[in-house]
Amino acid sequence: MKEWNGLPYYPISQFYKERFGEKVYKVPVSTAETCPNREGLRGMKTCNFCDVWGSAAYPEIRERSLREQIDQNKQKMAEAYHAKKFLVYFQAYTNTFEKSSRLAEQLEIAFSYEDIVGAVIGTRPDCISDAVLKLWEGWARSRFVAIEIGVQSFENQQLEWMRRGHSSEKSIWAINKIAVECPSVNLGIHLMFGLPGETDQDVIKAAELVNQLPIQNVKLHNLHVLKNTPLAEDYQMGRFTPIDREVYFERCRLFLQHLSEKVAVHRLAALSTRADELIAPDWTARKMEMYQHMIDYMRAQNSWQSQNIR
Ligand code: SF4
Repeated sequence: MKEWNGLPYYPISQFYKERFGEKVYKVPVSTAETCPNREGLRGMKTCNFCDVWGSAAYPEIRERSLREQIDQNKQKMAEAYHAKKFLVYFQAYTNTFEKSSRLAEQLEIAFSYEDIVGAVIGTRPDCISDAVLKLWEGWARSRFVAIEIGVQSFENQQLEWMRRGHSSEKSIWAINKIAVECPSVNLGIHLMFGLPGETDQDVIKAAELVNQLPIQNVKLHNLHVLKNTPLAEDYQMGRFTPIDREVYFERCRLFLQHLSEKVAVHRLAALSTRADELIAPDWTARKMEMYQHMIDYMRAQNSWQSQNIR
């Protein structure tokens, strides 16, 4: 059985340790205020799973300046974990939807801190302008810059159901474009499992596609139902049933078995940072318990990342 620091998959924490020589901590900040879906661009609608906070970890801090957010979150992490090095995580909404000059100013601020060793920027495949690519590559030549693209699925039918407003082809285009125009950038994607009609074969296909594309890391989410989302209505009307824990574990296992050992993995399931907003499934609320069960499941099945790659 292959292991990475005792785990059956290559965790992003190990990648960070190899890259920075010590543990680094993500400092989430909330600076973007909206996204193309929320603005109704080209008739788009809010993604069916997205709450009003646009995936922000700490939406209550978004009224504060970027410096205040960084200072506050850095301090919390230093106290809790004795953290010394940080990555600023531009997480909420779409961080490249507004003018690139805004992100340029924010990166200037973030990189003015000595202990901020990199930036992680979340965005969508259809918000990648030439100006943004230039900005990323400019910083990435001297600093660690990671881009996280919300791909969610490589199946167009699933993307339509989620109301993402972009296709699988657009995601593949964005991934290739970033790799060519920004060779110094670290590139990752988010994928969601537990979508209606999804099969084991779909997740194996997704892993094989990730292996073929210039993707360096993935973040996995199970589709969960949050209050005040279109999906909550579907759930209440019986039109959507969240994936069972065991089925989700099996999908992750299959995905990891077919995933290249070169691709680092951020996390294995979605976590609702605002527990009171989670409607279902309840197993996703218990972070450490769920994580440990997933690892135990992989071990019990004698499975590890890249095991099924010939
Ligand atoms: S998931 Fe992202 S793109 Fe979709 S509505 Fe929420 S913030 Fe916008």
